[in-house]
Amino acid sequence: MKKHNFNAGPSILPRIAIENTAKAVLELNGIGMSILEISHRSKDFQAIIDETVALFKELLKIPDNYHVLFLGGGASLQFCMVPYNLLQKKAAYLETGVWAQKAIKEAKLFGAVDIVASSGDKNFNYIPKNFTIPENADYFHITTNNTIFGTEIRYDMDSPVNMVADMSSDILTRPIDISKYALIYGGAQKNLGPAGVTFVILREDILGKVDRPIPTMLNYKTHIKEGSLFNTPPCLPIYTCMETLRWIKSLGGIEKIKEMNIEKANLLYNTIDNSKMFVGTVEKESRSIMNICFVLKEQYKDKEDAFMDFAKSKGMVGIKGHRSVGGFRASTYNALPIESVQALIDCMHEFEKINA
Ligand SMILES: *Cc1c(COP(=O)(O)O)cnc(C)c1O
Repeated sequence: MKKHNFNAGPSILPRIAIENTAKAVLELNGIGMSILEISHRSKDFQAIIDETVALFKELLKIPDNYHVLFLGGGASLQFCMVPYNLLQKKAAYLETGVWAQKAIKEAKLFGAVDIVASSGDKNFNYIPKNFTIPENADYFHITTNNTIFGTEIRYDMDSPVNMVADMSSDILTRPIDISKYALIYGGAQKNLGPAGVTFVILREDILGKVDRPIPTMLNYKTHIKEGSLFNTPPCLPIYTCMETLRWIKSLGGIEKIKEMNIEKANLLYNTIDNSKMFVGTVEKESRSIMNICFVLKEQYKDKEDAFMDFAKSKGMVGIKGHRSVGGFRASTYNALPIESVQALIDCMHEFEKINA
């Protein structure tokens, strides 16, 4: 049966990126060796990382004064690397969910943390508004897409201090004004490639302002200087990222991807809003285009397992909500075809016909 992959991460990737990765695993570009077997210092791998960086810069319109790094350690290591390199006295954080909280926890190891606002009072179902970013903070940190709760900051905020963003689950989903950010990071496994590689986009002038010694591997300067090749990088995941970026370019770039994403999300949100049985969990103006969270209305709560089983029987994968929200979550990342969204909608309608 055809599977409709709504996994939150690792998640669906473009079929062509997977097929070309499979080919490169067998043999890279007719060189008689697998991508798995070549030196990261070979010209063949250098060409791969160069193209990956170049496509990333081109698609995201990253200005020349920014560096792009591909590192290991996941977004979670960035929770620590960011304050290690940037927090001298105090940092400001917007608390919009579990990932933001994890970032805050690490920052507290290095200095004072000013939580400018939190949506924790309503289980993170909205993005706080009308907060003030302290002008004496070393930086201001946001999580643009809250993968677990399904909220998203879909615009580029103004900040009086250097702004740092975790864009793990919404990088490459809309054009961004990179110049508003000092540093952007994310794990690849939501919209870019397989698990194991992390991207970092940063301006070098923000570095060198903290007193503490920084271990070599955790110092951004090391990786800038060595072009992400200080040590062995995740070569295979980087290869797949390159293929995903080629796919985005072939579709017409990020503007086009954004249109496709909005169309998919609108279809599903409209279904939820007009449903007898289902209801969204997020305030409308804070809704994510990537992770769409919904639950059964109070009078139908006992049907949760029944819907999960029904959806599974129709090929839906990964729609169980995160334990901190419950209900259902459909992740509609770039590579998810609109047919899968339609299949989920059909499934919801059919279930309603039987049960409502
Ligand atoms: C998945 C996710 C993370 C964690 O990424 P790892 O690569 O597993 O460390 C962090 N932030 C956000 C917003 C995420 O969606």
